[in-house]
Amino acid sequence: LLLALILCTCVRAQPDFSFLTDEENAFVRSELQRLTLRQKAGQMTQVAVDLVFEGPTYVLTVPPVFSEERLNRIVGELEIGSLLNVPSRSIPTPEEYHDYIGRLQAKAMETTGIPILYGQDAVHGANYVRGSTLFAQPLGVAASFNTELARELARITAYELKAASIPWNFSPAMDVGRHPAWPRTWESFGEDPYLNQQFGLAMLQGYQQNDVADRHSVVACLKHFTGYGAPRSGHDRTPAYLPERQLREYYLPQFRTAIDSGALTVMVNSGEINGVPVHTSKELLTDILRGELGFEGLLVSDWQDVRYLYERHKVATNLKEAVKMAIDAGLDMSMTAVTTDFPEMVVELVQEGDLSESRIDTSVARILAVKVALGLYEKHLWDPAEFPDFGSEKFGRKALQSAEEAIVLLKNDGLPLPISPEKRILVVGPTADNMRSLNGGWTYSWQGEKADDYLADYHTIREALEIEFPDRVTYLEGASFDTLKNVDAAVTAAEEVDILVVCLGELSYTEDPGNLNSLILPEAQRNLFQQLHATGKPIVLVMAAGRPRLMSGMANRSRAVLFAPYPGPRGGDAIAGILSGRVNPSGRLPLTYPRHPNALLSYDHKATEARNGGFNPLFEFGAGLSYTDFRYSELELSSRVMNPDDSLEVSLRVTNEGDRAGKHAVLLFTSDLVASVTPSVNRLRKFTKLHLEPGEYRDITFTLTPEDLSFIGRDNRPVTEPGTFRITVGELSEEFDYED
Ligand code: BGC
Repeated sequence: LLLALILCTCVRAQPDFSFLTDEENAFVRSELQRLTLRQKAGQMTQVAVDLVFEGPTYVLTVPPVFSEERLNRIVGELEIGSLLNVPSRSIPTPEEYHDYIGRLQAKAMETTGIPILYGQDAVHGANYVRGSTLFAQPLGVAASFNTELARELARITAYELKAASIPWNFSPAMDVGRHPAWPRTWESFGEDPYLNQQFGLAMLQGYQQNDVADRHSVVACLKHFTGYGAPRSGHDRTPAYLPERQLREYYLPQFRTAIDSGALTVMVNSGEINGVPVHTSKELLTDILRGELGFEGLLVSDWQDVRYLYERHKVATNLKEAVKMAIDAGLDMSMTAVTTDFPEMVVELVQEGDLSESRIDTSVARILAVKVALGLYEKHLWDPAEFPDFGSEKFGRKALQSAEEAIVLLKNDGLPLPISPEKRILVVGPTADNMRSLNGGWTYSWQGEKADDYLADYHTIREALEIEFPDRVTYLEGASFDTLKNVDAAVTAAEEVDILVVCLGELSYTEDPGNLNSLILPEAQRNLFQQLHATGKPIVLVMAAGRPRLMSGMANRSRAVLFAPYPGPRGGDAIAGILSGRVNPSGRLPLTYPRHPNALLSYDHKATEARNGGFNPLFEFGAGLSYTDFRYSELELSSRVMNPDDSLEVSLRVTNEGDRAGKHAVLLFTSDLVASVTPSVNRLRKFTKLHLEPGEYRDITFTLTPEDLSFIGRDNRPVTEPGTFRITVGELSEEFDYED
């Protein structure tokens, strides 16, 4: 009895979750009482299903089919609480997932009575489910400046994940991509914190809807907390150095907003900040994430990162020490390739008195709370037949829209675009005829190398141009990504046509395999361009890439330039439609396109950088042309003075003065003219996207609050300082004073 009492008291000490009802909280508490220490450690573990080795080293071996034996081992014997990734060598259909997840869940219910929390990286649609609808990657979605579209894409992704009985999505990545060479730039919403905040929020809302337990919702995972997008070298998972002021200015607000809006899971940044691996940072993972941002949910590690504390970061001498460090810092769940190591260490640490069982209970309660919030105890398997819109044409139209709005027309001089139907076209270059350059990583595999097999029914740029301009298109590769090929034939072919569509850029990649030491394109691609340029034929340059690969003088020598930041499977169709004029482009750059290799500043650089031409990018953040003319007029402020309790209305008229309909994103920037911390020259504070018919105008109003004018001050707290502010929308600007 005494033991039961003690147990009860310490279990009761667990805080209730505000996102659960009283009965649900009571249920979580009773579950904790029922579980053994070993079972709790199993709940805290997330295992990759595509790894079969369980020794001290590990190999990535995707099984042909997930075996009964492995299922018994992971779920039956080890009683693991969460799984991730793809269970077979070929990407399963929803029906195959139904069978496999059905077996997993049945086994879990039979052994622990706790449903498995299954997670995947569905970052541009349900990209590990065969036949699903894939969209533009996040950078392309950000280029649309259309948050309603983002919400809709996330809603469809949730629907199609649920059709495969997968309730947890490791998305959105709200990493502000501050180093343009970073190989995950395209997984972020670009370089601006406000864009990451707004798009992260829209995706979160699309995934979770109003109720994560809804049969069409999944639980989102905000990642990667935090500062991941700022590695000094530009290489993945390498050190970032962030003074507290910067951390608070750029890397916390998006998480705060999403947590306030109901985010239930967060993934930790794999990297290190100021020399401290984030997985060991109690300051970030507990004091800030839990204490300041009020996060109540489940904190999962990134891939193998507990193990990496001693293997890579060298802050622990062995696995056990690493496990203790991460849990002490605030981690709840370890994502691991090696099935046994984490749970065994947790059990030993508790048995040896180095971790308290109540600390373990805190984490397990959070994990169970998410399972309860998802309603998994009642239902953990969905019949694909109940998802009739899976892979439908209706969803496909959204994929096409995401592609069309992702593409940014950066230059259009001398009227090569739209290309008139009688023109003969040579399409050439390494990105012209493959799906990888349109889709990026996380497309049927981590590195996206299976895109050409799985997306064979979709059109590459070359195929789409052949459909768009029947009998007018010749194709020659000219160069692979890094080697010249039949370039003489390409030059000869160029002599025979009117326009050259030169498609350069990158293949798919993510994380370390995408590391670069230079943003300059390989010599072969530059050489190909040069030889084609020498023919004197007008060039349309298509840069299909996940980051701003330098154009090294090629933009000047092209009549038109398009940036295609992984627009997805319909990217070829979208590019062809823009080139023919069937589609009016509306994307705008969500990052700064650098001109020089050593000038990699973001648009909101400090005033001091603006001196002496210190900031001279090739294309500015927000650049993006249309085939129609949008004009701004009548920029007006509701007042010339703003006080702390006021808000300020900024209104303007946007008119489509051209002769064709088009979509257009309006971006509002503010500048704090003088501040106690050197001000940024400009900050994006609001944006909206419109559709206007020829001759149509729209009056729009943005509301600014003092918070919109704030920055992180010398004391590392947000402050809005009195003084003059400038508001800029396109060519127009107005000033006002903030007084307190
Ligand atoms: C990535 C995460 C991803 C995880 C699971 C890691 O390597 O950094 O973004 O969610 O793998 O696939």
